[in-house]
Amino acid sequence: MITLGGQILQSEPEGYATIRPGIVEIADGRIVGLGFGQVSNKVDHGGPDALICPGFIDTHLHLPQFDSIGAAGMRLLPWLQDVIFPAEQRWNDLDFARSMIDRVTGQCLGVGTTGICAYATVDHDATIAALTAFGEIGFRGVIGQVMMDRDAPPPLLRPSEQLVDQVARTLDRFPPDGPMAAAVTPRFALSCSEALLEDAGRLAASHDAIIQTHLAETVAECDAVGKGFGGRDYVDVYDGAGLLTPRSILGHGIHLDSPSQDRLARRGSLIAHCPTANSFLGSGTMNRHSHRSHGIPVTLGSDIGAGFERSMVRVGRAMIEAAMRISIDAGHGVDDRTRIPSAAEAWHQITAGNADALGWDDVGRIAVGRRADLLVIRPDIAWLDSRQPLAALMFAWDDRWIETTILGGRVRFCSA
Ligand SMILES: [Zn+2]
Repeated sequence: MITLGGQILQSEPEGYATIRPGIVEIADGRIVGLGFGQVSNKVDHGGPDALICPGFIDTHLHLPQFDSIGAAGMRLLPWLQDVIFPAEQRWNDLDFARSMIDRVTGQCLGVGTTGICAYATVDHDATIAALTAFGEIGFRGVIGQVMMDRDAPPPLLRPSEQLVDQVARTLDRFPPDGPMAAAVTPRFALSCSEALLEDAGRLAASHDAIIQTHLAETVAECDAVGKGFGGRDYVDVYDGAGLLTPRSILGHGIHLDSPSQDRLARRGSLIAHCPTANSFLGSGTMNRHSHRSHGIPVTLGSDIGAGFERSMVRVGRAMIEAAMRISIDAGHGVDDRTRIPSAAEAWHQITAGNADALGWDDVGRIAVGRRADLLVIRPDIAWLDSRQPLAALMFAWDDRWIETTILGGRVRFCSA
């Protein structure tokens, strides 16, 4: 039995987080006890001033892009060709891929990310290596072999039949209901023939798999999709291929009109909001309030390496800032709480909010029976004296405060 004591982050049904002092007990990888009240120093980890928090969930990131953060001054499509495709090509060398996966797992643990929805590359063996490594450490999530059959350098392209065969085998080996699962991951419409998109849709349906792709990140991309698919609307292209399901995670979704939003809402597909990536590439600012008002579930992701922040806390902060910009530009000001999420909502989003949207009912909350994917955070500011302790933590955030990262009840990172 391991005991953690401190201010325990709890998510409320209304969609925000609160803190209450108490003690968490862990055994056999699960939370087996939760009691609120006085915190003594006689716990294994934490103490009265520590925050005990569920591990963060990042719903959109690219594992081979961690070395590409900061390639500034480019728009999406040239950035992909000049920076990202060469970086992803390096994963065709399995030894290189393995060494990078090792570094990436360490970086995720160090910033408190314990749940991921990640893209690997088009390389099958590297994708298997990533699923194996993340699974062995005890991460929760999905990783997808990227599917591309056009408009990239030849070493990153595969025939559709080969991709379908490889991804099908990966889904059998890492099934969708497992803690670390394969996902069907066509990169985006411009990298895929219509036949590949349809194959991907059928494959996901036959396995009830999570689908990951990108949607409407930039205007130039939307124009190119219109041209390449006979003038069809971007959402229609994916819908026609069966790629819009309640298990679809669509990165970005910035440039969408109201009929497209309504269609996404009817399909129940998720939009993964990636505010740091959007500002970095100058792609635009996603209107979270508008999507949610249409009934689209919105998650949050770092989108490493267009996104430059590994920490989901800082991505949460960027979500607040993006919503504030949209609200000001629309003339609603900075005080409209229906349009601008609070820090308490952002803490909920990066934990229970993302887990709920994904249907992961085993993580994201500190509750008896859930997986013990937990963080012990020890801020060096007097955060409990603040009028808004969770806002103080989010805006003053320092990754060095993460003292312990626990996955499945086992300490996997310890700063001490
Ligand atoms: Zn992405």
